[in-house]
Amino acid sequence: MRLKFKELSQCYFKLEKTQKKLEMVDILAETLSKASSEEIGKISLLTIGKIYPDFLGIELMLAEKMATKALAISTGKNEKNVAKIVEEVGDLGQTAQILLEKKSQSTLLSFTAQKEEKDYEIIDVWNILDSIAQTSGEGSSDKKIRILSGLISKASPLEARYIVRMVIGQLRLGVAIQLLLEALAKAKTGTRDKKNILERAYNITSDICFVSETLFKEGIEAVAEIKAQIMNPIKVMLAQRVSSAEELLERFDGKVSLEYKYDGLRVQLHKKGDKIKLFSRRPEDITKQFPDVIEFIHDAALKDNFIIEGEIVAYDSKKEKILPFQQVSQRKRKHDIEQKITEIPVRVYLFDALYADNKSILDEGYLKRREVLSNILKETESIKFSHQTIADNTDEIDSFFHHALENSCEGVMGKGVGEDSIYQAGARGWNWVKYKADYVDKLSDSFDLVILGAEFGKGKRAGKYGTFLLGCFDVEESIYQTFTRVATGFSDDDLAHFFEILKPLEREKPKEVLSDIDCSVWFDPKIVIEITGAEITKSQMHTCSRGYFDNENDGLALRFPRFTGKLVDDRPPEQATSNEEIRTIYLLKQ
Ligand code: AMP
Repeated sequence: MRLKFKELSQCYFKLEKTQKKLEMVDILAETLSKASSEEIGKISLLTIGKIYPDFLGIELMLAEKMATKALAISTGKNEKNVAKIVEEVGDLGQTAQILLEKKSQSTLLSFTAQKEEKDYEIIDVWNILDSIAQTSGEGSSDKKIRILSGLISKASPLEARYIVRMVIGQLRLGVAIQLLLEALAKAKTGTRDKKNILERAYNITSDICFVSETLFKEGIEAVAEIKAQIMNPIKVMLAQRVSSAEELLERFDGKVSLEYKYDGLRVQLHKKGDKIKLFSRRPEDITKQFPDVIEFIHDAALKDNFIIEGEIVAYDSKKEKILPFQQVSQRKRKHDIEQKITEIPVRVYLFDALYADNKSILDEGYLKRREVLSNILKETESIKFSHQTIADNTDEIDSFFHHALENSCEGVMGKGVGEDSIYQAGARGWNWVKYKADYVDKLSDSFDLVILGAEFGKGKRAGKYGTFLLGCFDVEESIYQTFTRVATGFSDDDLAHFFEILKPLEREKPKEVLSDIDCSVWFDPKIVIEITGAEITKSQMHTCSRGYFDNENDGLALRFPRFTGKLVDDRPPEQATSNEEIRTIYLLKQ
């Protein structure tokens, strides 16, 4: 028996009503446990607001305007009236629910009208959403609206609440991937304990559909056996930070492999025969934006099948100079690609190999992987191996660090040299450490923070957001904690741009945000920006790292924050600076 979408909607409604994480896991696990192995992959995707894994690039995301139109058609209302209700209740999903309730009441009163509700299975809904996502080309907007209005008109009010939210990409259940993994573990094994096994498999495949189907078809043992596969992006490994050469050396017990830390775009390159794909660290498929890089790899490759990693930087070959991040960042655009290739030529510095000779080498030590890398490709004008050296004293580190800065790099990366220096997919561990120029100067640490809320500006900034509440990510709890409020460093253009990208993300205060500070507007925590600040101090106003100090009300706050001008849009919010990183810096500087 296939699960009904009604049951899933009821489960979602219960999830919305609680803030307690364990309770949410239980609620979700109960519904998931009733799913068949054919359904579970799609249910997992829907529950995190998707119909395919991100890296396949098939997105549902309909503009709110289009969904409003579809809702108006299916309820026989005027679009303006629908928009008015949305303004009152602040959410298109709830508006859909209200309008459908009204519609079914009037249907009950009219003897002639037939009851139109269809008892959707989850798979039916997924299929229809899929057809909306796959519709493209001329007239596709109208067609999408038609399909959606057909879906809504036969849905129950509660189902419509979630269908509409799904299509506009604002499901708002507060179910992050970590919570889903716990619920899947509980649903199938009875406890949350085996979540780590699921998490590992998810981190090396980026595919929750495949992982949950394997779990339901073949059990947790089969999930433990899942291996990295070419064309499935592996979640990128991230680095902790240190602020001195001494600390860097100490972290690696006196011997460390150093590399330049290039300020560019992280790229994971997958090659299978003649086919090459590039993934960003989100991970998104960025193959189309870099046809030049594809050519470079074809020219440099010595093997057929591999997964390697590196940094794409903008490069001026006449001056033999790496150009600032702002240059290469323009190469992410999806239009005028050919023009940008000539305007902003790039080069790739490779630093890791994750798969070679038909097997995953994630569990090999770093030096071994680096050796494999040098056998996979040859260096060319545009493909280089990252500058690297092994250091066992601080003089060597200082000297390499200064060379890195002279060569337009941000600093250095330190990597372990032992056999245990494996590639930790998706983790920000101590096997990789970053040591950047700005950490040396006590007054200018930089942080990648998530915009959580805002206040409107005054004077010539009226009507746009002027002050932003920013937060860090708590990896353990999967929540955002507040760390600072910033109003400095923004040009008028920045503020106009932020208004444009943040306006569609406005919503009620999200569950996953832990804040004592109130804001005029809250956002889906999605946008990451780079901030510098003068000093980290204890504060009872901010929730960053609250619970880690003697006084349980103390958190950490960044004083004199300033926007650096860098919108970190290749970084998902879960990869923002973590509360642990901030705590480490705070404690070091005491
Ligand atoms: P951060 O973004 O500050 O956490 O630092 C990690 C990022 O540095 C990675 O995601 C890469 O994009 C970038 N990076 C630049 N050079 C290297 C390198 N040699 N090894 C690893 N990552 C590097």
